[in-house]
Amino acid sequence: MTPEQNGVRENRSAWAGLSQIFAGDRPPHAVILEGEPGGTGSLAARLAQASVCLAAEGKPCGSCPGCIKAKAGSHPDILTLDGNANPRVFPVDTVRKIRSDAYEKPNEAPRRVFVLLGVQNMSEISQNALLKILEEPPENVLFILTTTSAAQLLPTVRSRAQLFPVEGESLPEDWTLAETIAKAVVATREAELIFQAADLIQNRDGMRGVLEQLSLIFRDAVALRSGAGGCRSAGRGAASLLGDTLTRQNLMRMLEATEKARQALEQNANTALLVTAYCAALRSAAGR
Ligand SMILES: [Zn+2]
Repeated sequence: MTPEQNGVRENRSAWAGLSQIFAGDRPPHAVILEGEPGGTGSLAARLAQASVCLAAEGKPCGSCPGCIKAKAGSHPDILTLDGNANPRVFPVDTVRKIRSDAYEKPNEAPRRVFVLLGVQNMSEISQNALLKILEEPPENVLFILTTTSAAQLLPTVRSRAQLFPVEGESLPEDWTLAETIAKAVVATREAELIFQAADLIQNRDGMRGVLEQLSLIFRDAVALRSGAGGCRSAGRGAASLLGDTLTRQNLMRMLEATEKARQALEQNANTALLVTAYCAALRSAAGR
């Protein structure tokens, strides 16, 4: 990995790094996203959608016919096989079929996209079949492979695709910190919130995950308040406390503050200043 790539990975979100690679003069025909299935899977879907998006910029736009079909899983130029869900999804015959399909013209998108999730489960025979097309890729084709470990792929396959480690993109399993922070927003003692959030200052990647969790908790609180029920986050305790204590307007302003903090984080804001400002914004949004 070049230092530049390393910098991209450390300083921006994985999506920003990927966009940069694809905005270049020579976008790759194949990428390997390495990391936990949750993070790599959603990134792969977004990249596939961006690849068939018909908007001039800001891809994926989310609203063009290409994006809508991609989101619905019905785009004729995207083929997705999920080896994480089913390790037997890549028999060599299937890979040979992909190979011949790849030489067909795209139906309606600028390119054909093959999303192969969990290729750590692909046999050596199948990987060798795949290698043949990675060595001489047709124009207008993109292969997006995801794996929990690139070390489990054949070195020849690895060398034919741009490796992209995905870190801190999947939501952490542990919601404790996000829940504690969410509850501290309405704590009596003002210092409680900054005290609980201080752990984030040293951990930029961790902060990304916790901000995402907080945003889900606040959304759940809005839903619980309006009687919609259905918790999407694992932070039900905090969501119901906030839903009981705050108004919808409070919660919406907390969501806005969280979105602003996420943007600032992607723009490399100083984490100490960011955490302080975010805590103040949350307390104020909650009318505290
Ligand atoms: Zn679009």
